[in-house]
Amino acid sequence: MTPSTSSSQASPAVARPLHTTAKLQLPATLDSTATNFPKSHAKIENVKDTPYFIDNEFRASSAPDFIDLHDPATNHLVTRVPQMTDEEMKAAVLSAEKAYPAWKATSVIARQQIMFRFVALIRENWDRLAASITLEQGKTFADAKGDVLRGLQVAEAACAAPEFLKGEILEVAKDMETRSYREPLGVVAAICPFNFPAMIPLWCIPIATVTGNTLILKPSERDPGAAMILAELVRDAGFPPGVVNVIHGAHRAVNFILDEPAIKAISFVGGNKAGEYIFARGSANGKRVQANLGAKNHAAVLPDANRNHFVNSVVGAAFGAAGQRCMALSTLVTVGETSEWLGDVAESAKALSVNAGFEEGADLGPVISPESKARIEDIIASAEKEGATILLDGRGYKPAGYPDGNWVGPTIITGVTPEMRCYKEEIFGPVLVCLKADSLDDAIELINANPYGNGVAVFTRSGPTAETFRRNIQAGQVGINVPIPVPLPMFSFTGNKASVAGGGASTFYGRPGVNFYTQSKTVTALWKSDDAISKKADVSMPTHS
Ligand code: NAD
Repeated sequence: MTPSTSSSQASPAVARPLHTTAKLQLPATLDSTATNFPKSHAKIENVKDTPYFIDNEFRASSAPDFIDLHDPATNHLVTRVPQMTDEEMKAAVLSAEKAYPAWKATSVIARQQIMFRFVALIRENWDRLAASITLEQGKTFADAKGDVLRGLQVAEAACAAPEFLKGEILEVAKDMETRSYREPLGVVAAICPFNFPAMIPLWCIPIATVTGNTLILKPSERDPGAAMILAELVRDAGFPPGVVNVIHGAHRAVNFILDEPAIKAISFVGGNKAGEYIFARGSANGKRVQANLGAKNHAAVLPDANRNHFVNSVVGAAFGAAGQRCMALSTLVTVGETSEWLGDVAESAKALSVNAGFEEGADLGPVISPESKARIEDIIASAEKEGATILLDGRGYKPAGYPDGNWVGPTIITGVTPEMRCYKEEIFGPVLVCLKADSLDDAIELINANPYGNGVAVFTRSGPTAETFRRNIQAGQVGINVPIPVPLPMFSFTGNKASVAGGGASTFYGRPGVNFYTQSKTVTALWKSDDAISKKADVSMPTHS
């Protein structure tokens, strides 16, 4: 990548002292553009605060507290994210409430036209969005482009809203028809995790808005840059002011959303601790809540599998994005003699380039924070203590030129059993834990005994084996020779068990996503044909047929 002079992210246009308590409501702009954005990990000299977004304007927060955001590859300060005041968050909700009636009344065809422009703008700003992700989240530039793409595809699918929103109609009795409508809910909110800074906001923005709702988006306080660029694109696509507002903060901002009566529904993606709390408190407050949570995704490999395809698949899916994907294939169950293939897996993993995300050829970047690195290393150490073997140890790795990043190299732990901490906890790092099973049935039983149920994969060349696995496995997203089976948006994201709150009744995107963001209404009407004004007298004998 070529270094650029532009190195900072979101910034208020007007200079002001940081961490002031003065009530500033100044218009601000973003520093980057579709063609001028950060392309290196160079230290940012003039660090700017991240603004919030209300009424289609960027504003500098007057919050007393800010969260420092560091580049995970260097730990240089990138920006400061405000813990917005209640007053500012309330103003965002009022703006969304004010925008709602006119947006609801806007025809779906007009909303679709705006969505077409939004899609085109995301494509135009694809590299800029990816660069923001690489800088703030740490994933490689190529992987960050995939993050944007998987969100862009949801926006593209949302362009089919006229089809999704068509109701049904049936004549249920003579002259009596029932028809169904899908109506928006009002003001809705989205609370996002750090690991997909573009994709998860884009699971929410397109479907929430195209169905006629107005949205309060809270990106992760750890990497809101991509969401801020998306806000600019929302404005430029022609969404009216207030249809999408972006607020910032951590737990207090979440509690504000949970307790704000004007917010009718909450979409949450993140870990189990926050998600279960948000589901319970949001539901108790009478809101509709959809919540996707953590995971421990297993792969079962059978001796008849294509060995090379399996090795490449598991290495990519376990260590890609430094294992910080909810669909990372973090747990391997070798059936029978396939435990002997682990040497190949380790060789392939060892060859991966662990480096800063803007560096050419990097396969995986750092993990999000020093705390996360310490926790991952602690879990690796616990496995050793509990009797497992560290086949490949990524602790202590540092790429040249980046001594201060949050590095953990690919790590493989073998001889793992279900009671060990490394098996029970979601590690969320580049660590593959390996267990053994004697047969397909044993592998299925072991995987089903795990509380999580996000994704699973089986590697085999046998159709009957794959079908047996598919029928009996409880995880909600099954890959057959496919390591990360995330469904495209014509389907829905169908995690299961502890990977979703509320039994997974409301899934993200696709038709279920449209259902989540809309209330169905049925209207039964009687228009008696006898009451029709006839131009001619009817002289025949009435039959009432
Ligand atoms: P997180 O739960 O720490 O944070 C998610 C959001 O919740 C953030 O916006 C944060 O501000 C807020 N939050 C965090 N703790 C909170 C608390 N105690 N009270 C109130 N709000 C709180 O998650 P993360 O670390 O940002 O993301 C990683 C997690 O997300 C992993 O567990 C991963 O599996 C999961 N994830 C799941 C999916 C899925 O679709 N199942 C997709 C992506 C990520």
